[in-house]
Amino acid sequence: MRWTKEEEEKFRIAYQDNNYTLEEICWKFKRKRNAIMSKAHAMQIKRIPQKEDLPDGYKRCSKCKEVLSFEQFYDKRKAKDGKQPYCKTCKNKYNKEKKEENNKGITLVKEQKFIVCSRCNEEKLYTSFDIDKKTGKRKKTCRKCYIIATNKNSIKEWEKGD
Ligand SMILES: [Zn+2]
Ligand SMILES: [Zn+2]
Repeated sequence: MRWTKEEEEKFRIAYQDNNYTLEEICWKFKRKRNAIMSKAHAMQIKRIPQKEDLPDGYKRCSKCKEVLSFEQFYDKRKAKDGKQPYCKTCKNKYNKEKKEENNKGITLVKEQKFIVCSRCNEEKLYTSFDIDKKTGKRKKTCRKCYIIATNKNSIKEWEKGD
C-alpha cells in the first residue's frame, strides 16, 4: 500500500509523538509494525523513546491512559512486556461491543437472507426469488416455482386454486 504525501506528514508527527504507542500508530495508519518501522527508517525519522517513570510491574493503559498494575492487564505473549495494551476493563468493554456488533450482524443477515416460498414452502436464499417489477420487492414464490407455474401458462388459475 503506497503512502500519500499527506499520510507521510501525519506519520512524521505521530511517530515522533510520545503520546502514541507503536500499536496505536499501526492502527491509525492501518499498517503492520514492519511496514511502520521500515517507513520510519526510509524517512529517517526516529522515535523519541518515552521513559515513563513507573514502578516495576506497572503499565499505562493505552485506552483509558490510567497507570495500573500488571494484574489489571491480560497476557499477550507476543507483546514486549507480555501484556495487552488495553487494561482488563477497557479490553472487556471493547470485546463486549465487538460481540454485540457481530450479533447484530447475524440476526440482520438471518432476517433478510432467507425467504420461505409460498408455493413449495421451502426456505431458500433470497437470490432464488426474483424482484417484482411492479412492487420492487421480492416475489413470494421462488424462481423455480414461478417458472413451473408460468410455463404451464396457468399461474392465474394456480394462484386462485392454491
Ligand atoms: Zn484502560
Ligand atoms: Zn418454491
